[in-house]
Amino acid sequence: MSMSTNPDPDAVKTKKAGPPPPLEPLVDTHAHLDDPRMRPHLGEILARARRAGVVQVVAIGTTAADSADVAAIAGEQPGVFAAVGFQPNNVVDAVAGDWGRIVELAARPRVVALGETGLDRHWDRSPFGLQQEWFQRHLDLARERDLPVVIHCRECEADVVAQLAGMGGPVRGVLHSFTGGREQAEAFLGLGLHISFAGMLTFANKNLDALREAAAAVPLDRLLVETDSPYLTPHPLRGRGNEPAFVTWTARKLAEIHGVSDLELARIVTANARALFRLPDADLILAPARGEPGRPASA
Ligand SMILES: [Zn+2]
Repeated sequence: MSMSTNPDPDAVKTKKAGPPPPLEPLVDTHAHLDDPRMRPHLGEILARARRAGVVQVVAIGTTAADSADVAAIAGEQPGVFAAVGFQPNNVVDAVAGDWGRIVELAARPRVVALGETGLDRHWDRSPFGLQQEWFQRHLDLARERDLPVVIHCRECEADVVAQLAGMGGPVRGVLHSFTGGREQAEAFLGLGLHISFAGMLTFANKNLDALREAAAAVPLDRLLVETDSPYLTPHPLRGRGNEPAFVTWTARKLAEIHGVSDLELARIVTANARALFRLPDADLILAPARGEPGRPASA
């Protein structure tokens, strides 16, 4: 059989779905733009993002080295800002001087947050006490510098809630790629956090209905959207690498869940992202010119 009569099933799904009409403005609040799957193609990826209506991206660090890289990307690319920090699974690899580098990077212009930091019992890669120590460093520095924190939490919601409660007041930040249920969402909201949803919200799996119920319970003024690209590609594009343009699928699902128009939802989550990360309104990803990648030649 030829390729044309036996195409790749993912390609069929993708083709059927087609690219969604642009939804503007959106901010992808969590993307690993330094990832080797994206770093060499940033120009095209950002052009496609802008074409889809994504006007700003927060690029997220997970080690001292990639925090330096996302800060550099933010320095080069209009509309891209950075968060610097150590992801909990990586703290076991930290060497002397790494924290000092994060503290230094946090002072750079266009670094708008600390993270991703947090706790992770799923991978159990870094000793839990060490994860808590590093999480606390990020929380303390965030408070000192008046920066928001980007929090990763996997299978340890109660631990994250306890540590945040220990800060003795509201914490400015976001629980990123939230995967819990309604009660957990309410606990994080009670601590002052925003809650960000990624592609899992769009997956058809019945066992994710609890996640959708949690999303419905988050007040509109605390909602954010993200890709966590190159991970967590939303339906109907699953099976390929994720990128900031695809945040539109998650935003549409969130609009459906909240019973508001796509455009209204986009305006709300974008205003939320800009307020939380203090993003300048006018610093946007450049619109691709005619004939450039991301813009069809016919447009
Ligand atoms: Zn991440």
